[in-house]
Amino acid sequence: MPPIAFVAGYPIHHSRSPLIHTHWLHQYGITGKYLPLELETEQLPQLIKQIRKGTYIGGNITLPHKVAIARHCDRLTPQATAISAVNTLYREGKKIVGHNTDATGFIANLDQQAPRWRRHVNKCLLLGAGGAARAVAFALLDDQLDNLTILNRTQQKAQTLAQHLRQLFPEKQIDARPLDHFNRKAPQTDLLVNTTSIGMNNTRFGKIDPARLAPEAVVAEIVYTPLETPLLNAAKLAGLTTVDGLGMLLHQAVPGFEKWFGHRPEVTPELRKRILADLASLFDSSTP
Ligand code: NAP
Repeated sequence: MPPIAFVAGYPIHHSRSPLIHTHWLHQYGITGKYLPLELETEQLPQLIKQIRKGTYIGGNITLPHKVAIARHCDRLTPQATAISAVNTLYREGKKIVGHNTDATGFIANLDQQAPRWRRHVNKCLLLGAGGAARAVAFALLDDQLDNLTILNRTQQKAQTLAQHLRQLFPEKQIDARPLDHFNRKAPQTDLLVNTTSIGMNNTRFGKIDPARLAPEAVVAEIVYTPLETPLLNAAKLAGLTTVDGLGMLLHQAVPGFEKWFGHRPEVTPELRKRILADLASLFDSSTP
């Protein structure tokens, strides 16, 4: 039987993962399948049993199951433990491993779209303190970043995330502030990352003006609908380097595909075009 992987979530129809993985299966001539599974939380133990039996070789886990699936795994990778969420399952002998690829996906995208970030980025302002912020903050601190300030609407969530990160990286400078501290911090900042959902459907931050950042600064998004959010647009107008959020989605898929199908896939311009066309058709069909 050909190997079958999956993406499991509820709902699942919005997931672009089947398109990404099926593109790679065709591109590399691999006999296999990647299926969307709409599952409720109570069905997760059954899913794990099916991986043990070999019905599936593994798969992706998406909302709302990224936290709940962890207790069903035999082992979590250091990334999944640090980020407190699992987005990829694979088998290691008889054991089922829970892994998180959002952090490596974020860094791989930064490396691809703004490779010069490695030469000068050391201080980062992170907008948001939700699940995605946790992955991005871990990624950057685990890489070369020494100084991170988390800005979030709900101050308590920023504080909790900062505390968690300080335990993981006691030697680094990690701070939490309300969003209105942006203007004070911006001139010394060389990387701004938006991990909030603001930007989706062209929503805007009231008081975040990228023109206040250092002239060498990089501005990165993780929202990818639209591809150029108002924040990225303002950053471009200010002459800053920008990184869109689509690449993170594509790069986070790489390690799972490699584990399940035995070939490390590439994030190519063709794949980006394919997913962009699909996202555009979604918007077209939802406009009256
Ligand atoms: P989440 O856990 O629900 O966190 C949402 C964050 O956005 C929180 O910090 C929240 O602030 C902030 N926020 C929401 N509405 C806001 C508003 N009106 N004003 C100010 N702050 C606001 O969500 P998540 O899982 O981190 O996902 C965040 C975004 O990233 C989503 O759009 C998701 O699609 C995208 N994402 C993209 C990728 C990718 O591969 N490119 C991967 C993961 C996620 P409070 O704490 O104050 O509520």
